[in-house]
Amino acid sequence: MNLPEDFVFSQSSLQDYADCARRFELKYILNQRWPAPEVDDMLEFERLMEQGQRFHHLVHQHLVGIPPQRLRERIEDDDVRRWFDAYLKNGLAGVPDSRHPETTLSVPLDDHLLLAKFDLLAVEPGGRALIVDWKTSRRVATSEVLLRRLQTIVYRYVLARGGDYLNGGVPIPPEQIEMVYWYADHDGETRRLPYDAAQLAADEVYLTRLVREIDTRQVFPLTDDLRRCRYCVYRSLCDRGREAGALADWDADDLDDIDLTDFSLDFDQLTEIEF
Ligand code: SF4
Repeated sequence: MNLPEDFVFSQSSLQDYADCARRFELKYILNQRWPAPEVDDMLEFERLMEQGQRFHHLVHQHLVGIPPQRLRERIEDDDVRRWFDAYLKNGLAGVPDSRHPETTLSVPLDDHLLLAKFDLLAVEPGGRALIVDWKTSRRVATSEVLLRRLQTIVYRYVLARGGDYLNGGVPIPPEQIEMVYWYADHDGETRRLPYDAAQLAADEVYLTRLVREIDTRQVFPLTDDLRRCRYCVYRSLCDRGREAGALADWDADDLDDIDLTDFSLDFDQLTEIEF
């Protein structure tokens, strides 16, 4: 077994493995610190992360009952104010009233736990169960890309397997689950991804296979997809280049299945882990 028994998987660690086995090994098994910046313009990158964090915090404060005007008048950043206005206009349209912001659930997976930290769960007992994820990225991903992302796979799976306490003590039928990506920078454009029993069964097979593979493999090879190295903090260790990828290029079409936030330990700690 490569991992300690108390190792808890998340969408981030599984996405790292799916993107590059060596990155997973460096980050989670060898606990290698990151020796290089992810992007060329770290100041701008940090500014974008701070904006995202600020927006998530505002939405959380609103969902726990702070009046929106009080929140709005304290916003200094124009982008964040525009995002918050879009959220107030349509962010909760059609979202059931039974809302659980910034909720963590975990379920057993093989010999480990699988954990998901949700921006918002809205579950009507016996009715619809919505997973809402607030996105502040400049680009709206396609549904095809989002369906492949470990975030979609893990979040829907964890809610189906571990959401019973939100549903009167019985499991939430997968057909009632829907994941909604809500894009603040696009006036609340959404990508909606429904779920069903066949997909749940397929996800269970896939996730179990991934975890067993990680736990038993002897060698963690470097990815063949060099695009992934451009924004990876380990590229100097792997001899995959010294220059960081351009932040401006990250939005380019050929990188559209790469979520830059997955590369940033800081971002994960700020907006996913530190609720
Ligand atoms: S630099 Fe490339 S090969 Fe090395 S860990 Fe990062 S993605 Fe993998």
